[in-house]
Amino acid sequence: MTVARAYAATSATSGLHATTIERREPGPNDVEIAIEFCGLCHSDVHTIRGEWAGTTYPLVPGHEIVGTVRRIGAGVRTFAVGDVVGVGCLVDSCRECDSCLEGFEQYCENGNTGTYGVPDRRNGGGITQGGYASSIVVDENYVLRIPEGMDRAAAAPLLCAGITTYSPLRYLDVQDGDTVGVIGLGGLGHMAVKIAKALGATVTVFTTSPTKAEAAIALGADEVVVSTDPDQMASAKYSLNAIIDTVAAVHDLNQYLRTLGRDGALIQLGLPPGPMPAINPGALIRKRLAYGGSLIGGIAETQEMLDFCAEHGVVSDIELVTAGQLDEAYDRMVAGDVKYRFVLDTATL
Ligand code: NAP
Ligand code: ZN
Ligand code: ZN
Repeated sequence: MTVARAYAATSATSGLHATTIERREPGPNDVEIAIEFCGLCHSDVHTIRGEWAGTTYPLVPGHEIVGTVRRIGAGVRTFAVGDVVGVGCLVDSCRECDSCLEGFEQYCENGNTGTYGVPDRRNGGGITQGGYASSIVVDENYVLRIPEGMDRAAAAPLLCAGITTYSPLRYLDVQDGDTVGVIGLGGLGHMAVKIAKALGATVTVFTTSPTKAEAAIALGADEVVVSTDPDQMASAKYSLNAIIDTVAAVHDLNQYLRTLGRDGALIQLGLPPGPMPAINPGALIRKRLAYGGSLIGGIAETQEMLDFCAEHGVVSDIELVTAGQLDEAYDRMVAGDVKYRFVLDTATL
């Protein structure tokens, strides 16, 4: 057992405070990682602030983890001490169901094991604790390799924001000449812009923040539509093949469906805390549209995404924060004031 420094919440209103947690001794297939950076995902905010049902406190959030391998179990073959590695939203799954065997561990039919906040069914029980910590121990099958030369802090958000947007863009087979809309320019949204551009698409950003327009273009967007301006929304009518929705708050999708052309698809990634306004079936029927959702990505696809990003020079635009700034960073995320991902420097824990 190792004692790790960490930041945890003890209730929905406690904020995050310094603490220590126990990490298991590395088993035969485990990798012990000295964490250097951990991205702040809006899912951390939803979970820690009790916006989704079922948070177990005390809880250390964080599932965009980058660090260095410090120790390995005797059976570990894929990683060596000193390797730069990542851990995303999954640390285990059943490894037996069709989804697991097909590389879709996130859709494990027996329930995946998230990096924080769920029972760890294979490692002596307890609740998994995430990456706002100085170390973590993870089975090598759920550890990713950070490509050589990639900036470690800017790579961290790829482990959730990167894969969560890459996976549906690949599933929709987005390629050269396609037009893609991205709703919300936060952590996921800015990765969706970069990855869709790297896949060859023309990208329209829908934002509620007119002040982000210039930055969206700098990120690579071809068009920016301020979604609160009906004239701008009308000008985007039927212009898109696909939309990636990354909004963390309750919002009405119907106005966005009108921007999709025939056979378009809207994939929802944001999981707001309350019910969303109903979708008008007529909007789907009139243009043979599809409305779907997508959950992060499997382990093999996450590695594919990291390698794709390395090849295309894609990383996250980050603002490094200290442990003492976590609560303030959460408030800024809720206010939509993030350019475009906060990353915790674990040296400050
Ligand atoms: P984030 O960085 O806070 O970005 C969310 C963006 O949504 C904001 O920057 C803002 O962009 C926009 N927004 C906020 N309030 C809005 C409103 N009332 N109406 C319209 N737009 C609004 O959050 P994130 O980390 O990217 O996460 C986004 C969502 O995805 C969260 O719900 C998170 O839990 C979820 N998520 C899902 C998965 C998955 O596997 N499906 C994985 C990770 C995260 P503008 O200022 O540009 O409008
Ligand atoms: Zn996340
Ligand atoms: Zn499974």
